[in-house]
Amino acid sequence: MSFLSQTLSRVKPSPTMAITGLAMELKAQGRDVIGLSAGEPDFDTPENIRAAGIRAIEEGKTRYTAVDGIPELKQAVCDKFKRDNGLAYTPKQVTIGTGGKQVLYNALMATLNHDDEVIIPAPYWVSYPDMVLLAGGTPVFIEAALENNFKITAEQLEAAITRNTKWFMFNSPSNPTGAGYTRDELKALTDVLMRHPHVWVLTDDMYEHLAYDDFEFCTPAQVEPGLYNRTLTVNGVSKAYAMTGWRIGYAAGPEEVIAAIRKVQSQSTSNPCSVSQWAAVEALNGTQDFLPGHNEIFVRRRDMVVAMLNEIEGITCPTPEGAFYVYPSISGLIGKTTPNGVIITSDEVFVTELLNDTGVAVVFGAAFGLSPNFRISYATSDENLKEACTRIQNFCKALT
Ligand code: PLP
Repeated sequence: MSFLSQTLSRVKPSPTMAITGLAMELKAQGRDVIGLSAGEPDFDTPENIRAAGIRAIEEGKTRYTAVDGIPELKQAVCDKFKRDNGLAYTPKQVTIGTGGKQVLYNALMATLNHDDEVIIPAPYWVSYPDMVLLAGGTPVFIEAALENNFKITAEQLEAAITRNTKWFMFNSPSNPTGAGYTRDELKALTDVLMRHPHVWVLTDDMYEHLAYDDFEFCTPAQVEPGLYNRTLTVNGVSKAYAMTGWRIGYAAGPEEVIAAIRKVQSQSTSNPCSVSQWAAVEALNGTQDFLPGHNEIFVRRRDMVVAMLNEIEGITCPTPEGAFYVYPSISGLIGKTTPNGVIITSDEVFVTELLNDTGVAVVFGAAFGLSPNFRISYATSDENLKEACTRIQNFCKALT
């Protein structure tokens, strides 16, 4: 019998590792690699937030804090939910963790039992299914098809709910598609959930502030107040404030679940980094003025990438409402052959050949649960994106 845990055997290693490894190898060989796989903004953390972190160090705020966060940050989170989402929470209903990732993980660890099902729209953020498996639950997927702009319908949600459904996991704007649900689209889903009082909502609002054009972000407990008592709303500072390395995420929801999350955290990591918590207080309470400027840059990049991809015969790329990803379909390229004689049988073969031939690194769709597609992160310079898209165009043109 293996020395390793049976639980771990339920989980697959990150499917993106092989492609990342290949990209690193090519780079080491001196090849000109353009990486479009990073899930983080290419901006620096704004100056006022960096200064708050430095101040915290200099003022000696470097000791253990309360397990699930300092009161100042919990209050800032309450104020943020009221200001941005019209949701009223008290600090007792708030938890702070080491990134949204830890908060989601702890929430699942704290609530799932054997046989519990978690509904996850696919494509999904890579960690959702494996977190559910690690916590002993069963992921149940609903296809968010390209034809429906990568969004699920109320009928699909209704059909996926069983007696064993515990959570519905929701992410809008989405990683990997950038798709964002309008208020009406989300209301159609929350109407379904109102008919199934045993189902809770785990909403991941990480890309809330990265919403473009006239798209208006909304979150389930705001759209349907009747769900307030069974919704955990997760968010964080990583994406909006370019703070991926600081590792601060948070959630608000019913006290019982917040206390259970605290219990898990108290026996694993204890408090998130004290200095980062003080920086996050400034992120949430301080000026939000830089957000429109960042978004303007993202919109410009998104529009260029979508236009250049749609010029390619065999590729279809909808324009997403938010985040910094596009998720083009390559269904028109499956079965074609590269000049080296490789047949494109899947999105994984496509991205491997694209990387080998052109040095452009993207992530294949199978990693996110919907194929044949690939994900581009456009959180990189305009020049990089233009060059990468030109290389993708030339690679696809050479397929026969
Ligand atoms: N949720 C989604 C959809 C994400 O894309 C990410 C990061 O890539 C996270 C959560 C986790 O963010 P963090 O742990 O940095 O707060």
